[in-house]
Amino acid sequence: MHRHTIAVIGTGYVGLTAGACLASLGHRVVCADLDPVKVAELGRGDVRILEEGLPELVQAGLDAGRLRFVVGAADAVRGARTVFICVGTPTGPDGRADLTAVDAVVEEIRTLLEPDSVLVTKSTVPVGTAARVTAALGRPDVGVVSNPEFLREGTSVSDFLQPDRVVIGSDSPWAAAQVAELYAGVDAPVVIADAASAEVVKYAANCFLAVKLSYVNTLAELCEEVGADIGRVTTALGQDHRIGSAFLRPGPGWGGSCLPKDTRALLGTADALGVDFPLVRAAIGTNAHQRTRIADRIARLCGDADGSLAGVRIGLLGLTFKAGTDDLRDSPALALAAELARRGAELTAHDPAVPATRHTELPADINVVDDPHQAAKGASALVLCTEWPHYRGLDWARIAADLHHPVVVDTRNHLDPAALSAAGLAWHGTGTSPVE
Ligand code: NAD
Repeated sequence: MHRHTIAVIGTGYVGLTAGACLASLGHRVVCADLDPVKVAELGRGDVRILEEGLPELVQAGLDAGRLRFVVGAADAVRGARTVFICVGTPTGPDGRADLTAVDAVVEEIRTLLEPDSVLVTKSTVPVGTAARVTAALGRPDVGVVSNPEFLREGTSVSDFLQPDRVVIGSDSPWAAAQVAELYAGVDAPVVIADAASAEVVKYAANCFLAVKLSYVNTLAELCEEVGADIGRVTTALGQDHRIGSAFLRPGPGWGGSCLPKDTRALLGTADALGVDFPLVRAAIGTNAHQRTRIADRIARLCGDADGSLAGVRIGLLGLTFKAGTDDLRDSPALALAAELARRGAELTAHDPAVPATRHTELPADINVVDDPHQAAKGASALVLCTEWPHYRGLDWARIAADLHHPVVVDTRNHLDPAALSAAGLAWHGTGTSPVE
């Protein structure tokens, strides 16, 4: 395998994972970020995001001398044959992806890129970005490649090293081949495509997952109405190999740093092109409805008939958008918390990845505590929002004694209803009958 010299711009979940994994495959990698504090920490092997295996991989790269961290893209691209852009692409004011950070990197390194090198966008960018980058570069010698990233937070290292597929899109075959070579140590099918197709794939995947989850959440609502059980329905549904069992669990609505912004961005792109995409619009609408529906349920259980929760104490278990990550961006737990607070509820929340010291990152009306039992104390309902495994083993008898009303709303059907029932608690799942 050829060892390459690579630059990675942006050391967030994607950039740091890509950098450390590419170094573990034997390449020499220089990672750049704007934040000098983060760069200094990473240079000491101090990884501040929660990602299984990532601190070890970063340390191994540093020890082997194959991984370095620098401030600013300019320093990183010197000598690099391939440069990965991994900066954020948040939602812009018009709902479409905001490419300010990508454009800034391209502008910064335009004249500094080595002759005949390859510039890769790994950030999620709308179709047409490769063409836009090519035009902004003004460097016919530099190949432009789209290599979207499909990793999931929490399992980013294993997802990067054992992906379902690697997608490489370029209108320059030599540049696509050079990027494919970097993945020689990764055992996965490589899909070589034109740049536009590769850019579409990433949004196509995320929007499909959002549609699937919204579909399940509405099925759960239907199950509640007819007395069916969503767990049994989705088990049988998922056994159909045409459908697959992943992303078939009901919950408080989907969220995180990708699905909300990517659904909005695809709709924005489709709108701009005059393509109607009602399915994705409906998935977004269903997601907002799910949050209101769960808040209505909580209000029925411990608030007023008109949906108000004025002065009602509610305990929340979980704040991150899913278990295994410390990421709070666009978390459905926070969206539900905002809806409960809007109705007047007083919120106390626990999350193992969100110590009380992170309270500044949260709305002021959420009181964060470091012990799940504290969240239950005096509450009229305990609401599970994030499926952290250890919540299943909580001391339910103690929680029953601490709660003001013996009500647990399990938005993700994560807990064991029998264990709660044995402790005298009423379990209210999603898409299934309550267990008293
Ligand atoms: P992030 O916000 O965690 O990290 C982005 C990093 O880029 C930050 O550390 C920031 O300081 C740095 N940065 C910004 N401008 C810079 C510049 N000019 N020079 C150097 N560094 C700069 O973002 P993320 O979650 O890693 O996502 C990055 C991209 O990957 C996004 O487009 C996202 O949609 C996509 N993506 C994310 C995931 C995920 O699960 N987080 C998965 C697949 C794809």
